Amino acid sequence: MYGYQDTLFEVLGKKVAKWSEAEKHGSIVIDEMTIIPGVGFERSTLQHVGMTNLGKYTSHSTKEEIADHALVVMFQPFQGKWHQSLGCFLSKGNVKGDTLAKLILEGITLSEDAGLRVDAVICDGARWNKNMWEEFGITETSPSCVFGNATAKGIQWYREKKQVSQLQNSQATQAFIERIDRLAHAMNSGGPKGALWDGSEEEKQFFGNIRRMAAPNPHPDAKLFAQLYRLLSVYSLVSPPKGSNVSGVSNVEALVNAKDTAGEEISERQEEFNRILDEILEYEQFPLPVQEEHNYDKSTTEKYLINFMAGFTCHRQKKIAKNCQECLKTLTKDREDTTNVDSWTLMKEIHGGYSIPSDALVSLIKAVEFAVCDTMSTSDVHQDMIFTSLKFLKIDVSCFVGCLDHTHDVTKALVKYYLFTRMFFAADMKNAEMARKKERNEQFAKQSKL
Ligand SMILES: [Zn+2]
Repeated sequence: MYGYQDTLFEVLGKKVAKWSEAEKHGSIVIDEMTIIPGVGFERSTLQHVGMTNLGKYTSHSTKEEIADHALVVMFQPFQGKWHQSLGCFLSKGNVKGDTLAKLILEGITLSEDAGLRVDAVICDGARWNKNMWEEFGITETSPSCVFGNATAKGIQWYREKKQVSQLQNSQATQAFIERIDRLAHAMNSGGPKGALWDGSEEEKQFFGNIRRMAAPNPHPDAKLFAQLYRLLSVYSLVSPPKGSNVSGVSNVEALVNAKDTAGEEISERQEEFNRILDEILEYEQFPLPVQEEHNYDKSTTEKYLINFMAGFTCHRQKKIAKNCQECLKTLTKDREDTTNVDSWTLMKEIHGGYSIPSDALVSLIKAVEFAVCDTMSTSDVHQDMIFTSLKFLKIDVSCFVGCLDHTHDVTKALVKYYLFTRMFFAADMKNAEMARKKERNEQFAKQSKL
């Protein structure tokens, strides 16, 4: 979803191939909007969302930062009132100039490869953008478009010294930029200073659309923004340019026939998740050596909470084993089992109508809970949090539930169910924490005004 998607450029290439040369020329437009910071867990993609995401430019130090800005890169042709979003990025604060410069270079290269002709780059003159222009060697005293010789040299440097793969065949782009640079110099001499810094109507319209669709809230959160962006992006991809003889239907066909790289990525993640989990369940069906006691102070998880969660999980997941009476027996404890009267009374109080979980189920939930607690004590919520949790997951023979025939499947299903639940909780907890912090800051600001 974030970064530049191969699928989009593939479809765009097919669309552009049918255009006249004049229709292919236009500008790359960059703009950003603030979004409400918030995180969520996406079950389908097995990832937490809402953190900084600059595609492949996301750095290790920023991946736990909650994003509050969305940046969109668009192509806007000189002819017609039409635009195509090319990529979308999330960041905390403004994207730094050097990263922005790389994003733009990549956007130009991908667009040119798709057959578009990028003649200018447009963004507003805010300070962060000026930093970016400085990366390109353009200063306020010599306003020019992005096609300066510095850019051409930059492309060459990235291609030859850094071996950036997208720039492998960028000689033509480089030559093109050098040519445009000469043209720009000719055009700019005597032209209005800073003429190329104006924001465009189309870009305002794009964000205007997002704001209108997000109403009544003028600022969407990351999840809503992603949905709206995807919608508008696909819409502009399938809608034909004004006056074009290309039908929207053929664009839809191209989109449907395009290799679904995003979909492939998702199923790869799910396969990887299942493979790791299978491995954990496969190789640890024997007792683990006596482990050091987990430090309960490390997290707020109390023993009764684990029992409660096990009971809840059991209650919700009985359907997993509904076809096998033997499996069911391994999930619950007989209510008449009063070997430990105190614990039984407590459980009855806590669980109400819920079933009382078996010892094995309690051990299993405890194992998963500890893995989640270990994850949370070593890192903040991040995109691959569920995979980090798997790294901490240790399951031994006492944790296995299900009858002999179904033990792997039933145990695995319960681990997944509980882990997913915890991932949703982790996102909710993070959001609650941010809300508390915001409230405290607001109170503090109010008090300091008095
Ligand atoms: Zn069974």
